[in-house]
Amino acid sequence: MLLYKFPTGPFKTNAILIGCPITKKGAVIDPAYLSTTQILDFAQKDGLTIEKILLTHSHWDHFGDAKVLKQKTGAELYVHPLDAQNLIKPGSDKLPLMIPLQPVQYDHFVNDGDRISVGEISFLVIHTPGHSPGGVCYYSRENNLLISGDTLFCGTIGNTQFPTSNADDMWISLKKLGQLPKETKVVPGHGPDTTIGQEQQWVS
Ligand SMILES: [Zn+2]
Ligand SMILES: [Zn+2]
Repeated sequence: MLLYKFPTGPFKTNAILIGCPITKKGAVIDPAYLSTTQILDFAQKDGLTIEKILLTHSHWDHFGDAKVLKQKTGAELYVHPLDAQNLIKPGSDKLPLMIPLQPVQYDHFVNDGDRISVGEISFLVIHTPGHSPGGVCYYSRENNLLISGDTLFCGTIGNTQFPTSNADDMWISLKKLGQLPKETKVVPGHGPDTTIGQEQQWVS
């Protein structure tokens, strides 16, 4: 599996490009503001066709380039229903916008237990509310990989002080992630990678 991480935008949000080396199909997880040029450069270098844009949640720093990336690739946009509204009406989640943000139309909902394929790579959708109501993580067992959004970081967890956050939900979500094998590599929405084993203090 190909995986590239592009920390971009005011909060250095990790825009992630995933590619299937066999089928050359690709997906972008969380197209952060001003990430598109780099993403398209890398996709072209590997001959990837970006067919899907998957959001871990709809905070503005995670979808700033969703509209432009959709326009340039024709990729379809996936979001959990409880986080969809902020795409149509940016700022409706009551977070102050730090970038010019255009509304963007989503194409599909993702729900807990769904399987999303990127060529021959399969991701399980794990609903992890708390930081935001429609937060999800994407888990590939075959690749031993969790894309954790703003739920779990290296050494800490996502903020639960936002207007739509819920700390009780967050602890339940973290325990769900604690069920994954300890050697699972975690690629978060900000900052460096970690593993489930390294973050036992939060997930057990
Ligand atoms: Zn967030
Ligand atoms: Zn974030």
